[in-house]
Amino acid sequence: KIVNSKAEEGRVMQLDENALLVLRERYLLKDEAGNLLETPDELFRRVASAISRGEDNDPEGRREEMNEAFYQMMANLEFLPNSPTLMNAGRPSGQLAACFVLPVEDSLDSIFESVKLTAKIHQTGGGTGFSFSRLRPKNDFVQSSRGVASGPVSFIRVFNCATEAVKQGGARRGANMGILRIDHPDIEEFVSVKRDPAELTNFNLSVAFTDDFMHAYEEDGEFPLINPRTKEAARTVKARKLLRLIAESAWASGEPGAIFLDAINRANPTPSLGEIEATNPCGEQPLLPYESCCLGSINLSRLVKDGEINWARLSELTHLGVRFLDNVIDVGTYPSGEIRDKTRGNRKVGLGIMGFAHVLIRLGIPYDSPDAARIGDKVMRFIERESKIASNRLAKKRGPFPNFRGSVWDGKNLLQRNATTTTIAPTGTLSLLAGTSSGIEPIFDIRYKRILLGGIEVEVEDPLWREIKDRADAEEKRRQLFRKAYEVPPLVHLNIQRTFQNSVDNAVSKTVNLPETATVDDILQIYLEAHRMGLKGMTVFRNKSRNYQILSCGTQQ
Ligand code: UDP
Repeated sequence: KIVNSKAEEGRVMQLDENALLVLRERYLLKDEAGNLLETPDELFRRVASAISRGEDNDPEGRREEMNEAFYQMMANLEFLPNSPTLMNAGRPSGQLAACFVLPVEDSLDSIFESVKLTAKIHQTGGGTGFSFSRLRPKNDFVQSSRGVASGPVSFIRVFNCATEAVKQGGARRGANMGILRIDHPDIEEFVSVKRDPAELTNFNLSVAFTDDFMHAYEEDGEFPLINPRTKEAARTVKARKLLRLIAESAWASGEPGAIFLDAINRANPTPSLGEIEATNPCGEQPLLPYESCCLGSINLSRLVKDGEINWARLSELTHLGVRFLDNVIDVGTYPSGEIRDKTRGNRKVGLGIMGFAHVLIRLGIPYDSPDAARIGDKVMRFIERESKIASNRLAKKRGPFPNFRGSVWDGKNLLQRNATTTTIAPTGTLSLLAGTSSGIEPIFDIRYKRILLGGIEVEVEDPLWREIKDRADAEEKRRQLFRKAYEVPPLVHLNIQRTFQNSVDNAVSKTVNLPETATVDDILQIYLEAHRMGLKGMTVFRNKSRNYQILSCGTQQ
């Protein structure tokens, strides 16, 4: 239904057909009858104008200049903020963050308070993560009713149903992350529940591993499972048997994923405020209870010209990106006062990149070559360093984040405006909008099907492949450079993840894609290696292990 003039504008802005589809279905303002009320250009104007208002809190704020600079970098598809910012900035909802973590304490009040907040967050397009580790196990004693507890899995179902009912007005499906510690007595039920494809369809599940458990695995030891209510061991299990059970589930259904709690907390910038127990839905953003975070991604692919990365523009975009995201924290509205206060206390932001695979193709470097990791390392080190300089400059004008005293930055004597600055997001939708490869993932295929917005299926042809497919050397280039996710060896996936994690202060969204023929032992090895590498988390996905998958390979050629 996009009228000609809008399609015309799309071409000017280099938006392709899928980008226009996503914009129309999901981002552009509509009236009640579904008529479009804004063009893509007006969307970027709306967002830039709303976010540049954040300059008013800065004694040296430059609202006009930033309005233009923010608009330019979005309209050029060089930088995009996460979806809720694109959808809600300058509109009544005004909720701009994609990532939230909510507490779930061992009481009905706490559980249902979180259900309510979850509904409000999903309504605005945010995703929620929870640790369910504090809930007493199934069949444990309940004082008030003299009955027995139903356990974490049954309460996760409550959150799942609430999510189903809200469905975010069709714009965005509510995404959740449910986390359970490896030492919880209900761990076996938790790691097996999603083998039934009808279960917890609005949840990703991840096991929170501890170094103690990984040690017990290596020693082939017994591992105690602790009742969180009594703090006493309920029973012990063989560590090797438990990890095998988890690998079997991941083999069968792609779930659960893993997070490594000790690695996450070794990097916790504010240890005096408590331990981090959970992440957002896709795992790239560890947060304290009630914290939220806005992500933004630089489209690195736009910065390659004549076989070179434009480092000067990358520096500008990093400084603008941090400033944009810092403004988001002040301009945004929050689902509750607690979320507002916790978020503004640490002012975490997550700047990262998308289009890494396309950069490599443009530079003539295969994804699974040592040069790929070298480029990734150079790029991310650069962004990380510049982002810290940007945050330091902002802190000098706007003040450091309120919890700066006692933080790791205080310890290092480096004034920061934001407790964290970098994150690698999946950029599932943003990358379609920008016409590039997602996050730091290899391309999925040169042509594939993708399910959007819970239903619409689109054929996506890799935009770079489209550019060259009619050339005489296209086939040769494809074989050399268009390395597909399933063709990349697991250790290469992990190594790229580690490369980026080394220069990212939050975490990295990365999937280790495995061919259908991969075994449970292959997956076990990946857990061990990911832990050895000091990664903060890990996700595997074996092709065809779920009958419904968001991405599936198209027919060849
Ligand atoms: N997210 C969500 N619902 C979705 C997709 C994403 O709540 O349907 C949240 C979730 O916290 C995820 C984060 O947004 O980890 C970033 O995802 P992505 O980069 O794919 O989002 P995009 O901004 O591209 O839509």
